[in-house]
Amino acid sequence: MTKPVENRLHIAAFYHFGYVRPEDLESLGAAIENEGDRRDLRGLIIFAGEGINGTICGTSVKAVESFLTWVAEKLGFPELPRKWSESEAWPFRRFRVRVRPEIVTLGKPEVQPLPPKSQTHLSPEEWDRMMEEEDVLVLDTRNWYETRIGKFKNAIDPEIEEFHEFSDYLDKAELPKDKKIMIYCTGGIRCEKAVVEMNNHGFQNVYQLDGGILNYLAKFPNRKFDGECFVFDYRVAVNQELKPTKLYTLCPHCGQPADQPVNCLRCDIDVMVCVECVKTEKYQTCSKNCSNHYALAPGKKGRNQGPLPYLMAKEN
Ligand SMILES: [Zn+2]
Ligand SMILES: [Zn+2]
Repeated sequence: MTKPVENRLHIAAFYHFGYVRPEDLESLGAAIENEGDRRDLRGLIIFAGEGINGTICGTSVKAVESFLTWVAEKLGFPELPRKWSESEAWPFRRFRVRVRPEIVTLGKPEVQPLPPKSQTHLSPEEWDRMMEEEDVLVLDTRNWYETRIGKFKNAIDPEIEEFHEFSDYLDKAELPKDKKIMIYCTGGIRCEKAVVEMNNHGFQNVYQLDGGILNYLAKFPNRKFDGECFVFDYRVAVNQELKPTKLYTLCPHCGQPADQPVNCLRCDIDVMVCVECVKTEKYQTCSKNCSNHYALAPGKKGRNQGPLPYLMAKEN
């Protein structure tokens, strides 16, 4: 008999593009943060004149649902579509709302998404079927450290460091403009802008995975997506069952997924660092502290750093 999971936490990723008056951003942001905090939720919300984007976590589905209803009413938005996953440990330390110029940073605030449920949005079922057609291209719109740990079969990896490099990628990449191109990201938000930007670059036949990888894996685990899906919180990644990864931790030096075991050159703790950092001697260490000390005095040993503090993944 499997042991029931107690104290399971429920995580919802959501976004909505909708207008918020610039003069209201700070006060609404503060009100949302207070309310989330008051309800004992944790998470990170990015808030901008173009809408809201976040991942939040609570001890019950109901707690998270009722907060999302409150937020939608507060902002005058329709119901916020959400993608669920679970964790036994809190994926965030507290509840924060950050006001930014864009809710997903393409670096071009003038690029605004098409209406929701436009013809370009594919459900997981439609996506799955289209992937079997001949002569389609699948293009990942995420960053290189995300694609490295998992992607759709045969997907093209643009090898970008941040999403705002996507436009430059389109200029340089010699992708055929007449072919059907299927694009995807983690939860669907980056593709909302990527599809418009691709249209602006002359691609007329672009489709996007509605709700992203998280939505797809909820329907089709172990099918056309290989590996794990990077997420921007303490879980680092989720597996095919949308459970927190058991393969990766966060690299203490750069915040990317780490799976290269090292024994800290200064304090002898066993940790994992990422494939890039492991190439540099001073990063074969357990922490920023040990790498700094090691760089100043290579070979000198230092005190064990003890349990490592939580690290935060870079935000997209
Ligand atoms: Zn690293
Ligand atoms: Zn160390």
